[in-house]
Amino acid sequence: MKKYKLYINGEFISTNENIEVINPSSKQTISYVPKGSETDVNNAVEAANKAQSSWEKLPAIQRAEYIKKIAQKIRENANMLAKTISQEQGKVLSLATIEVNFTADYMDYMAEWARRYEGEIIQSDRPNENIFLFKLPIGVAAGILPWNFPFFLIARKLAPAFVTGNTIVIKPSSDTPNNAFEFAKLVDEVGLPKGVFNLISGSGSEVGDKLAGHEKVGIVSFTGSVPTGVKIMESAAKNVTKVSLELGGKAPAIVMADADIDLAVEAIKNSRVINNGQVCNCAERVYVHKSIEKEFTSKMIKAMKSTTYGNPLEEEVDMGPLINQEAVNHVQSLVNKAKEQGATIALGGKIPKREDGFYYEPTVITDVTQDMNIIHEEIFGPVLPIVTFETFDEAINMANDSEFGLTSSIYTQNIDLAMRACKEIKFGETYINRENFEAMQGFHAGWRKSGIGGADGKHGLEEFLQTKVVYLQYNMNKQQ
Ligand code: NAD
Repeated sequence: MKKYKLYINGEFISTNENIEVINPSSKQTISYVPKGSETDVNNAVEAANKAQSSWEKLPAIQRAEYIKKIAQKIRENANMLAKTISQEQGKVLSLATIEVNFTADYMDYMAEWARRYEGEIIQSDRPNENIFLFKLPIGVAAGILPWNFPFFLIARKLAPAFVTGNTIVIKPSSDTPNNAFEFAKLVDEVGLPKGVFNLISGSGSEVGDKLAGHEKVGIVSFTGSVPTGVKIMESAAKNVTKVSLELGGKAPAIVMADADIDLAVEAIKNSRVINNGQVCNCAERVYVHKSIEKEFTSKMIKAMKSTTYGNPLEEEVDMGPLINQEAVNHVQSLVNKAKEQGATIALGGKIPKREDGFYYEPTVITDVTQDMNIIHEEIFGPVLPIVTFETFDEAINMANDSEFGLTSSIYTQNIDLAMRACKEIKFGETYINRENFEAMQGFHAGWRKSGIGGADGKHGLEEFLQTKVVYLQYNMNKQQ
């Protein structure tokens, strides 16, 4: 049985209490990770704070060299890391391998910004004066992570923080901490200066809360649910600490009458089953034009029916289990509620009769209307509700009728409708005629309750920078 240690100031540290980590496809205990305390949070933040001033003074290209070395270590250990993720999170091994390789590529991509991010020189109204706008690190970043893409999210926080001169304290989810501890071992081998990277595990309401509310943390970069995002804002508010929040989603997919139906079915079905239906940016509700409802629905039912599920490490399957029993109960209660409110369960809708893991049947729900709970609450499971519409405006209005505003998609061959959708769908991201999957050079940012700020690309990098203006007056007549 694996037992991990905290990583603070370049040292591996044991704690008295531990947290049990469960494999969701077997319900067996697979490891114990430390249950950190307030003292551990203080030590980690102090270490990060102490290390930050010399880290900041390194040329960005030297910080980037460390990031690239970590990326290289990730590639050398890709199989071990992918198995670790699949075992504790339940995603299929092929997707875990994609997550690991994408993480290494993301680190390299962010390292490339070392020679590219820039300040400005602004025209002054006075003679003999320069106005400089410096882009400087914020200081200590806290990265608080969810369980659904646990490994990639380390890089999404750490790589832009490091290249811009911030140090970091990472707190993984208690459901999926093992991959982060394996990551810490790789960071240790790279010889990063002590205190630049710190890893603490523990309960969200204790360790996460103390971290978000710590006076020496300069930015809290959080990915997770809306209720936790709200609590993090409250804790950070005590010190007026900057927050960057990537929260939940309820992505609408609109399928117009002229859509390539096979493409739409394939993309939406993949979106619904990837990572066992647990992705913030994936289609959670479909709006289909009335004229193609029958064809679309029967093709979708066929596609969902053919989706296989089981132990992602032992079988060739499309899906693994959900993360835990609570997640299964949540999905089942939303499905039951939809039934109660008049929807039809066209496929699935049940917890399979098997004892080994937290599985849920691929499910399609029809006769769904906009007022039902399943259209407004995040499902986070392999369940697809289908609503019909008659006009483009009606579809756009229903898509926008959500407290979430992360991603959205539309399938149409009509350029006019596609362009109108770009402007009229009020979400941070819109995919046209393709699956929901963001690029590392884009900008992943939710509107409304889906978050504040964003990640990836130039704008994601700038989350970790603050500006400083310097007015420099000089004397033109001075000779010596
Ligand atoms: P969660 O909010 O339950 O937990 C996320 C993290 O917050 C965990 O590490 C947890 O320990 C910690 N936490 C809990 N309470 C805390 C508190 N009071 N103070 C500080 N930290 C606390 O989320 P989850 O269940 O792990 O993840 C699923 C959610 O994440 C979904 O809503 C999903 O949509 C969202 N998500 C969003 C994105 C995005 O990019 N927008 C990406 C992935 C996941």
